Amino acid sequence: MKKKRFIALAAAALISFPSALCTNTFPQTADAVNISSVTFTNFDSRVNGGEPIRGVDISSIISLEEAGVKFYDDHGREQDLFKTLADHGVNYIRVRIWNEPNDGNGHTYGGGHSDLDTAAKIGKRAAQYGMKLLADIQYSDFWADPAKQSRPKYWQPHDHNKLKGEIYNWTSWVVKYLTENGSDIGMVQIGNETECFFCGEKDMYKICDLFSSGEKAVRDFDKNILIAHHFANAGNGHFGWYAQVMNECKLDYDIFACSYYSYWHGSLDNLRNTLTDIGNKYNKYVMVVETAYPYTDDDGDTFGNSVSSSSSGCELKYDISVEGQAKAITDVFQTIANCNGHGIGVFYWEPAWLGVPDISWEQQKQLWDKYGSGCATIYANDYDHDVTASGGSSFDNQALFDFHGKPLESLDVFLNIYPQKKPVVTTTSTTTTATTTTMTTTEPVRTKDIVLGDVNSDGVIDVFDVVALRKAVLAGNKSHELDLNGDNEVGIADLVKLRRYILGYADSDLTYKTIIVK
Ligand code: CA
Repeated sequence: MKKKRFIALAAAALISFPSALCTNTFPQTADAVNISSVTFTNFDSRVNGGEPIRGVDISSIISLEEAGVKFYDDHGREQDLFKTLADHGVNYIRVRIWNEPNDGNGHTYGGGHSDLDTAAKIGKRAAQYGMKLLADIQYSDFWADPAKQSRPKYWQPHDHNKLKGEIYNWTSWVVKYLTENGSDIGMVQIGNETECFFCGEKDMYKICDLFSSGEKAVRDFDKNILIAHHFANAGNGHFGWYAQVMNECKLDYDIFACSYYSYWHGSLDNLRNTLTDIGNKYNKYVMVVETAYPYTDDDGDTFGNSVSSSSSGCELKYDISVEGQAKAITDVFQTIANCNGHGIGVFYWEPAWLGVPDISWEQQKQLWDKYGSGCATIYANDYDHDVTASGGSSFDNQALFDFHGKPLESLDVFLNIYPQKKPVVTTTSTTTTATTTTMTTTEPVRTKDIVLGDVNSDGVIDVFDVVALRKAVLAGNKSHELDLNGDNEVGIADLVKLRRYILGYADSDLTYKTIIVK
């Protein structure tokens, strides 16, 4: 899986200040991106099968697909975005969940719609490609961030205790619904970018009481699901106090998570020191659940972008290029890897939030309003009075795909994060030309490498595969994918081999097998 591209770099690109270089960089196409690897040493084997979380938040994907946005593989062939992400090493998908993001008359507020049904669609497809889900429950009907933490409209009349009860009920419903509809939830986030502000509440002790209700709902459902709380800006110096109050309130959570947008949130050293202190003091995991960096100053969807070289209030620390973007992401992974064993991974925020390319603003607006594929529709005004117009993506210049949906080389960062323990079940198919002497056209034969032993196709080889294989053997299943020892039989010997592999015997390596994809 190790995939690196070494090239001669333009030395100036490494040492110059971004603003001097950031014009018309869209998009670099040559193999010009140097990606360093990052290793999380002493990674906790209880987390994510012993692998750092290489995550992305693609909450807008269902709306994008409905609006007609298409995605491609490295060779320019149209392909399911989930597969492309999995092929590039992504092992976790984050999805935001809003309560009632619509006006009650069939109009979405936008922002990818982001209701529970949409989240369930995303979670199911993620699981089909072996990726776990982080359910980012925001307890809001629309965007929740440090400036806005409005209560869902139906909860607005509630007193504290009734609100607390609703948080328990809603959280329980979300995890149950997602699981029953095919998601593999590994983690739940209780609140989004809360900075002493959550669900309309600004008293940190009352916030903790509300947090505890969400935590209990998750624990009551499944004790193996990790619980995260998410704060925004390590640069503001308040993280230590949040963690202290949460400790005083005896909150039952696993991960102290934060956003890190390098142009807004201070230095990486500060991020590392802040998170390491919290990890050490309270024995918590730490992670970055949102990061991004621009690769271009251009705009792909006629809706202005949040960050570019002309933005005010931003400290752009990297070149605005694919190379600069890859370096920015790698540095965040490296920083989290350096948190004294507490760091468990990084999520990139909305790496695929594009518009349909090459259409007018009027055409874009129709899609945003109909499918909710932009940041807001005018109907959101019903809940958020600051929304006065429809909008698209202000992050398409920070995507890891170009404006036409093709992966940028910066997406390869995820392939270079170690350790990588779980075998990745599907890898990029290789195309070979069928040999024929009589046909005038040659059909490509598409093949796929599978990892032998992942009998239940969940991306991990463990005791559950033994159970599944035993069932298959008893049922007389002769599938060649179950022939682990290569003797063209499926039987007890394969079961023995799988058990020995799981127990770590050196003689029992499982290998890849190439099969033809129909
Ligand atoms: Ca844009």
